[in-house]
Amino acid sequence: MSDAISQAAALIKKSSHTSAFTGAGISVESGIPPFRGEHGIWNKYDPKYLDIGYFYSDPIGSWKVIREIFYDHFNTAKPNRAHEVLAEMERRGFLEAVITQNIDNLHQEAGSQLVFEYHGNSQQLVCQECGATYKPEEVDMTEEIPRCKNEGYMLKPDFIFFGEGIPETAALGAIDQASKAEVFLVIGSTGEVMPACMVPHEAKRYGAKIIEINPEESLFTPAITDIHLRGRAAEVLESLAKELYG
Ligand code: NAD
Repeated sequence: MSDAISQAAALIKKSSHTSAFTGAGISVESGIPPFRGEHGIWNKYDPKYLDIGYFYSDPIGSWKVIREIFYDHFNTAKPNRAHEVLAEMERRGFLEAVITQNIDNLHQEAGSQLVFEYHGNSQQLVCQECGATYKPEEVDMTEEIPRCKNEGYMLKPDFIFFGEGIPETAALGAIDQASKAEVFLVIGSTGEVMPACMVPHEAKRYGAKIIEINPEESLFTPAITDIHLRGRAAEVLESLAKELYG
């Protein structure tokens, strides 16, 4: 493993443009479970509650589940060492941007500046009528349906539900990073979620070296990974940081 870390650090030091792509795995050590797998959220909840059509047909039922998954629990999570190292790498000039599939806001809380949120952000709520946006603490989240302060219309979390499109800024930003990157870090992602999983494939197609950090193999590993740093994100990124800047 230490050889692989040294190789990865050498590639990053040489690279003129390194970007990172993160999935649910990077937030596991902050106490947020992934959706899939043994302890995944989908073992406990029906994914239909996050389908956009279902949300509009049963907003009270959807909000009950959404509140429990994303606001009673996510809101107490703090960035872990993996989020912090990515923010440090950006400050020190080793990383250009983070493209994240996560909606937990932890990269920004750790200090990352350029973050493309491919699936939106749970820490913003948007009025379905006038487009006004709120932080969860600015509205009454205990109501059956949290409501806009203007005309009382329903709010929706500003993350992507099944059946919704990817936010344009994030989609374009991700492809821009993938096309420019000489090194592309892929951290804690199964590679199963479309279309997000295409982003690392695009980076590879444009010639980037792919460094993957994941305790398990993912769909990326046999297909595009050049160096697999097998382990938990916080631990592996801490070792990488030591090699990069001591
Ligand atoms: P995913 O594709 O995000 O995969 C999770 C991956 O994390 C797996 O490959 C697993 O091996 C790996 N992993 C587990 N522990 C890890 C650790 N400590 N360090 C590094 N890697 C680790 O799969 P998903 O959970 O099904 O997510 C589906 C979508 O939902 C994704 O877009 C995901 O980002 C999003 N999601 C977001 C959050 C969040 O915002 N924190 C939580 C759950 C899911």
